[in-house]
Amino acid sequence: MRARRVIQWITLILSLAVLFVFVRTKREPLAITIMLLLSLGSLFYGKLFCGYLCPFHAYDKMLGMLLERVGVKRLDSKRLDSMRAVFYIISFSILAILVMKAMMPYTKIKLQIPILMLAFVFLTLFAPRIWHRYVCPFGLIMRLPAIARPLMPKIISSSCKRCKSCEKVCPTNAIKIEKDKTYLSGTHCILCYRCEDACKYDSIEI
Ligand code: SF4
Ligand code: SF4
Repeated sequence: MRARRVIQWITLILSLAVLFVFVRTKREPLAITIMLLLSLGSLFYGKLFCGYLCPFHAYDKMLGMLLERVGVKRLDSKRLDSMRAVFYIISFSILAILVMKAMMPYTKIKLQIPILMLAFVFLTLFAPRIWHRYVCPFGLIMRLPAIARPLMPKIISSSCKRCKSCEKVCPTNAIKIEKDKTYLSGTHCILCYRCEDACKYDSIEI
């Protein structure tokens, strides 16, 4: 468990550093293309990218720790569900522009990663994972159903006691435990495996 967390921190911090280098060297179109390709890879490995390689996730996690230390509480991003249609329209528009930028690097369209980053920095101050849950344009691609997802956690219904410990720790609200049904959504799961660590009944397996 500890090793997995350390690996996750290292890969996330590296991804933030790589993005910074791309932006500093003005190679945003290349960065966008790489992120679009990695997002398409989610057809095979689910949201591994979100959990381990997303620079925005790295920032969200670090800011969360910092705000927690100074006692600042952010909104529960679930409370913004009623506004999700607006967020999706914004997200889809950003995705369309990013695809155009990646395909035509010299287009005059001005939207670039630094602007996305600024928007993200602003939104994340108010609610954790707001970018991940609603606005991320790459996340829209990752909502496509996976063809092969070998690392997906599964809930074993027969031994599950419906205690909801996994539901409580899941950072992306990918788990729903109801009276006689358990549900784990692959389109939200970022493979952090906190649910597996939280389950005292060994009812989550990889
Ligand atoms: S807690 Fe489990 S279901 Fe939720 S994101 Fe992590 S691995 Fe996926
Ligand atoms: S923590 Fe384990 S036993 Fe409890 S609801 Fe989740 S899968 Fe079931």
